[in-house]
Amino acid sequence: MARLGIFPVSYKVRGKQILIIGGGVEALAKARLAVKTEARVRVVAPQITADFSGLDVELAERRFAERDLVDTALVFIADAGPDNAYAAERARAHGIPVNVVDTPEECDFFTPAIVDRAPISVAISSEGDAPVLARLIRARIEALLPLHLGALAGLAGRMRDRVMAALPGGDDRRHYFEALLTSGRIEHALEAGDDAEAESAAEALLEAQDATAGSVWLVGAGPGAEDLLTLRAQRVLQGADVIVHDHLVSDEVVQMGRRDAERIAVGKAKGAHSFTQKRINDLLIRLAREGKRVVRLKSGDPMVFGRAGEEVAALRKAGIGYSIVPGVTAALAAAADTATPVTLRKVSSGFVFATAHGANDDELAHWAALAHSGVTLGIYMSKSVAGRTASALIGEGLSPALPVGIVVNAGRADRKTYYGELGDLTGGHKAFAEGPALILIGAAVAEGDWQQAEALIDRAARDAAKELVA
Ligand code: SAH
Repeated sequence: MARLGIFPVSYKVRGKQILIIGGGVEALAKARLAVKTEARVRVVAPQITADFSGLDVELAERRFAERDLVDTALVFIADAGPDNAYAAERARAHGIPVNVVDTPEECDFFTPAIVDRAPISVAISSEGDAPVLARLIRARIEALLPLHLGALAGLAGRMRDRVMAALPGGDDRRHYFEALLTSGRIEHALEAGDDAEAESAAEALLEAQDATAGSVWLVGAGPGAEDLLTLRAQRVLQGADVIVHDHLVSDEVVQMGRRDAERIAVGKAKGAHSFTQKRINDLLIRLAREGKRVVRLKSGDPMVFGRAGEEVAALRKAGIGYSIVPGVTAALAAAADTATPVTLRKVSSGFVFATAHGANDDELAHWAALAHSGVTLGIYMSKSVAGRTASALIGEGLSPALPVGIVVNAGRADRKTYYGELGDLTGGHKAFAEGPALILIGAAVAEGDWQQAEALIDRAARDAAKELVA
């Protein structure tokens, strides 16, 4: 196995100086890193060409002098300069480590890519071999660590003395800090920037060791592809103790939580209501009351045909904290798949999320009127009632020639698209592929890329048949 040529350490710089020799863009990049710390930062160069304004650094536009090294923790040599070799030699003579930018063989230390959630930091180093790879890894870790992580660490730090006094046993303390660091109430408060609420939750936790009230996150899983999940959704999933998911949520996304998180499928496949909404509400409340961090994972966006309203009402009534993480809803995934602008200047002034499932005559009349004025319709749960819906809309005065695009399995690799006119849906159209379908109706639909789509009906054959009849 390969061994490390470096030893990762966290080097104290508080109260000391970081010296940067050079005045160009490389020096500026190092200065940006250095000002993240509590060190004083001094930049020395015969000519300072980069723009250091806005950075808390001391600029010295002159040649390096040995006195610049007083109280210095680290030296960076950036940009070519007349005194570089001399400065490196003097620094080393004083026992100060030197980094020569872009010259790994002359470096005593490397600067890792840093994820900064002060006081928490994560450093990723490639020993200077592949800094770009290190930055890519950093981006992934950035996505996993919430911005309020530093605040959480700070809160734990502030509680330390009180915890020491209140809880004599090491086990009790460890349990307390575990509860604090995983408390949904505290996380919600910090997310919302409410430090006072976080503080009082931390206090409550100390007084009543059992105040570990759980919390529920209603999370949008998007249309299926793992990379159409938001970063927040991914992070919240990683923190879940229990994931309660619908059958429409793809397996890849359900698997994204921690391996040992409990997963409960509450599939409401059409026709097979294995879980009533009431049972789901009760389940969420029970799990939260057990102190668990519950993720209620829904396909698309939780607020769109996701019965989130009922779940939120139940949680509110039970006094359980909740928050919503939005997701890419099926209609917008369908629009993206087909480059269809659902709103379009001078063509479509709006977009309606509608469902044909259980829609009554009044509702259909209403959508027909909207579509008539140019609004694009995005129709959910309509596969089995597409024909009836189209007939009703035409009956309400919509043109049978209005463009229609259908995406089955939108946002997934196995998507299928169909294109035609509203009238095509009223009879004899192609059978749709397996999977959830989204129907887009309106003049703007014609502006999408539907070249790859299957025609809803064979138009030439239909016209020939018409002629025969006539
Ligand atoms: N909350 C979900 C909708 C749930 S209702 C969202 O925001 O997308 C279920 C309906 O959504 C399905 O009947 C279908 O019309 C639509 N749907 C869900 N996922 C889909 C997908 N990947 N492709 C096309 N339609 C989808």
